[in-house]
Amino acid sequence: MPTKSANNAASNPLARAHRVVVKVGSALLVDAASGRLNRAWLETLVEDVVRLRRQGREVVLVSSGAIALGRRHLGLPKGALRLEESQAAAAVGQIRLAHAYKELLEAHDIPVAQVLLTLDDSEDRRRYLNARATLNTLLAHGAIPVINENDTVATAEIRYGDNDRLAARVAQMVSADCVLLLSDIDGLYTADPNRDPSAQFIPVVREITSEIEAMAGGSSSDVGRGGMTTKIIAARIAVAAGCHFCIAPGAPRHPVRRIEQGARCTWFRPAASPVAARKQWIAGTLRPAGSLVIDDGALRALRGGKSLLPAGVRRVAGRFERGDTVSVVDAAGREVARGIVAYGDVDAARIIGRQSAEIESLIGIRGRDELIHRDDLVMQ
Ligand code: GLU
Repeated sequence: MPTKSANNAASNPLARAHRVVVKVGSALLVDAASGRLNRAWLETLVEDVVRLRRQGREVVLVSSGAIALGRRHLGLPKGALRLEESQAAAAVGQIRLAHAYKELLEAHDIPVAQVLLTLDDSEDRRRYLNARATLNTLLAHGAIPVINENDTVATAEIRYGDNDRLAARVAQMVSADCVLLLSDIDGLYTADPNRDPSAQFIPVVREITSEIEAMAGGSSSDVGRGGMTTKIIAARIAVAAGCHFCIAPGAPRHPVRRIEQGARCTWFRPAASPVAARKQWIAGTLRPAGSLVIDDGALRALRGGKSLLPAGVRRVAGRFERGDTVSVVDAAGREVARGIVAYGDVDAARIIGRQSAEIESLIGIRGRDELIHRDDLVMQ
């Protein structure tokens, strides 16, 4: 239910976030009249991002704007574009977009990484895991991933089409605790404020009910693609992943600093933390693909909150791939835990009973030290 409480600084989720996804809408980045990059504004956003990093937070940017930036260079007319025209415009605009972020962030000695994703990269489990590993590695090395949809190759059936949902999926992928959706809409109202003067602003949403969904009419922005409906869908994905989700006005300068300072915006509150949400999902797996039989030492380690290492596993049963959920079974055959396994059954069978340092010589690649990482493990 919506509540009317104010977003004071103490309850501001951004103040407690470790990993923040900032989604930047086309309408902010690209001046509608000239079709040019709104550079002065982008500089203030970059300063805000640098500030978040100085506070010890990791930042992922999901940026739209490729199509809006590229269309002018191809001399495309104003108004709706055909799919192939927008894909061509994206190809031209993405270079410019990435270049702008690179120039502005590298001036602060922050490496920038361009990552272009398609819907499949978040829906197919192996691609999802690869994308997740790459993003985590970039963050671990202090880079800022700048993500957009790979518009040039994504066809109608396999595309997000809007970066709101992409940002939410990215947040889920990297277990972010906060998504800031910066757009030309300042938050959620009880009705479309452009059509209904009695529409009331909603600062906090604790549960996305059908009533909340009904409040999301179409947006009046014609530069980006995501209206309020896609923003609510995105909010649903994020909160289910344990992530706070904020719809905030992006147009003023220093939009993130303004959110930090308690400016008006709508916060969607998650029910659980990212790790708890992930664990709920693991625990809820209906049919684990296989099982790992562990020894007593490993069982003690798991009960003490440790990860499952290959050394403590005696036997592998069933057929599974890296990323599948498997059962962890004790010597007496009782299921003691469930988790997402980091190796497929064939590789797992080769490394069990051995030290993690031997993994490379046993299977030819230096994979993870753990067979199941403790963040991916739920005790039964
Ligand atoms: N990927 C599109 C672009 O870069 C933007 C999609 C959106 O506006 O959400 O132009």
